[in-house]
Amino acid sequence: MLAVLAACSPGSANDSRQGVSRSVPMGEFSADSAYSYVARQVAFGPRVPGTASHDSCATWIETRMRAWADSVIVQKGTVAAFDGTVLPITNIIAGFNLPQTKRILLVAHYDTRPWADRESDPELHNTPIPGANDGGSGTAVLMEIARNLARKAPTVGVDILFVDAEDYGPGETSISDTGFDGWCLGSRYWTQNMIPYGNHNLPAYGILLDMVGGRDAVFHYEYFSQRDAVTPTVKVWSEAMQLGYENIFCRQVGGAVNDDHLVITAAGIPTTDIIESNSKSTGSFPDTWHTLDDNLENIDPDVLDAVGKTVLNVVYKERP
Ligand SMILES: [Zn+2]
Repeated sequence: MLAVLAACSPGSANDSRQGVSRSVPMGEFSADSAYSYVARQVAFGPRVPGTASHDSCATWIETRMRAWADSVIVQKGTVAAFDGTVLPITNIIAGFNLPQTKRILLVAHYDTRPWADRESDPELHNTPIPGANDGGSGTAVLMEIARNLARKAPTVGVDILFVDAEDYGPGETSISDTGFDGWCLGSRYWTQNMIPYGNHNLPAYGILLDMVGGRDAVFHYEYFSQRDAVTPTVKVWSEAMQLGYENIFCRQVGGAVNDDHLVITAAGIPTTDIIESNSKSTGSFPDTWHTLDDNLENIDPDVLDAVGKTVLNVVYKERP
């Protein structure tokens, strides 16, 4: 493991960067702004589907998107969780540059886990997590990207999908005989009709942002992304190198993650997942994952900044 991490140290990255063209951030992505959107979400309280805090957050996202986007679709429905609970869910889809037929999809989940089931103290397992990183960070970065797209339109079309109920899965993943594992309920619901695309004119690719604000985060290639969604994976990690973020993005395979990108890729939109899957302390997800330490104090604005500027550049550089 040390050898793997060493390969992504600044020294060797500088060596391998010979021949990598340099890039400058396009647009005006603000780390302070993105951080404030994380703080705002945490201030609502845990965004557990079916709770008032969750609904307040959904309304806030919708209101911001109505101010910035060219179209906003609010998709409401109900889904059955692994334990039989019927959850009301809300997916929010914001469209930019609607006349363009070539489109890119950006995705984050905004719900948060009802259970801190990775806490060492079992007494805390039924306490909802703050979800600053897991839920809050990806949503915040996409909101700051939306604020930018409102000021400077992309050349291609861009759709931002905020999905619900990603994190209501069972503690230990077990796949039922129907193939249902209980995770990613909002994106599964969305793929039933893929508003606004239907089954026609799907976006060229998708980029999922999940847990993109942790302290000392390094983003390795997520296993399924580099296997099944090569185009967006190469675009994101190449752009990060060009921007000089070789300390934060590592062009080596990290973990294999069950997340919304699998659902969306299976539905026909190859989608890469920017997620911390090989953290220095755990070798997989960050140590705050599904604990009460997933709070604002453990969010690093510089990480939000690197991810946001990278994705925004990918979007702005895309051509019809
Ligand atoms: Zn989670």
